[in-house]
Amino acid sequence: MILKIKIRNLIILILIIALAISSILIYQNNKIYSVSTTEKKFIKYVEFNVPYSLLDCALKYDIKFHNTEKPINWIELIAYLGAKYGGEYKRYKRSHLDKLVKKLTDGESMEKLTEGMKYYDYYLEAYTAVLDGFVGEYEIEQQKKDTEEETEWVKKYGLIAFSPIAKGYEYWHYDDFGVSRTYGYKRVHLGNDLMGQVGTPIIAVEGGIIEALGWNRYGGWRIGIRSFDNKRYYYYAHLRKNFPFKKALKVGDTVKAGDVIGYMGRTGYSNTENTNNITKSHLHFGIELIFDESQKESNNEIWINVYNIVRLLNRNKSKTVKNLETKEYHRVYDIKY
Ligand SMILES: [Zn+2]
Repeated sequence: MILKIKIRNLIILILIIALAISSILIYQNNKIYSVSTTEKKFIKYVEFNVPYSLLDCALKYDIKFHNTEKPINWIELIAYLGAKYGGEYKRYKRSHLDKLVKKLTDGESMEKLTEGMKYYDYYLEAYTAVLDGFVGEYEIEQQKKDTEEETEWVKKYGLIAFSPIAKGYEYWHYDDFGVSRTYGYKRVHLGNDLMGQVGTPIIAVEGGIIEALGWNRYGGWRIGIRSFDNKRYYYYAHLRKNFPFKKALKVGDTVKAGDVIGYMGRTGYSNTENTNNITKSHLHFGIELIFDESQKESNNEIWINVYNIVRLLNRNKSKTVKNLETKEYHRVYDIKY
């Protein structure tokens, strides 16, 4: 009798453990994709922790093999490694990337190479949402050789996205994503702070439509720009007191990558408009991913760590010039893409 009860208890215990394990697995799966059949299926969670060296090398391969018979897509390279490591980039080695590129240029297809890789599609979709607007064909104005005044249009392929800081302006930053902030309520830092001088021209990283422009009690004077594919919301905050934005800009306007949009300052952390309440002048720069409009302003916003992106963009800076009458800055070299 006692033995029977013990066996029954043991079976119940095993059932409880099995149930607990399966609910943990379902929960973790839910974190990545919504699985309910009545809900739309879209990505709900992205951690962007791709190392700078991988972004840099993958981009070089993409540019190198552009216009060849076997073009290489840098986002696919990164997604392949992301899926291989399960997002654990501590395992990243340059040789892994080189071997992958060798296979692809030898004629193997990415489709074949990723067969049976459970999360390749997830990483590809997530990283495409992050990086899709960054690289492509474009035309840019350039100084004509041996002239100082005249410019000419030059066709190029490569990084179209610009550093948020104009050319010739100093800034410093470190990886401060996720550190705690206390103003208002307890929360974590969802961007990267670029410390520099008040008045430094702030540049649109990617082109898009201005979605927000004005005062926000946290961000102070801030601009929000949505990429044309709607996937990325760029957030530029703490702009200058009294003269925060490029004056002509308004919600609904289109901007191009490399355009001046505003000026660095230290506004924010106040309910009163136009208040300097930040000690060190800096640009708060953030990117939110939007796979479904319901995510835009919700409890499940996806802000990614942009630190390595800012490092990558440092090589592409927009040159600006001041209009002495209006005190406004403008880009020197226009772009078409
Ligand atoms: Zn910040």
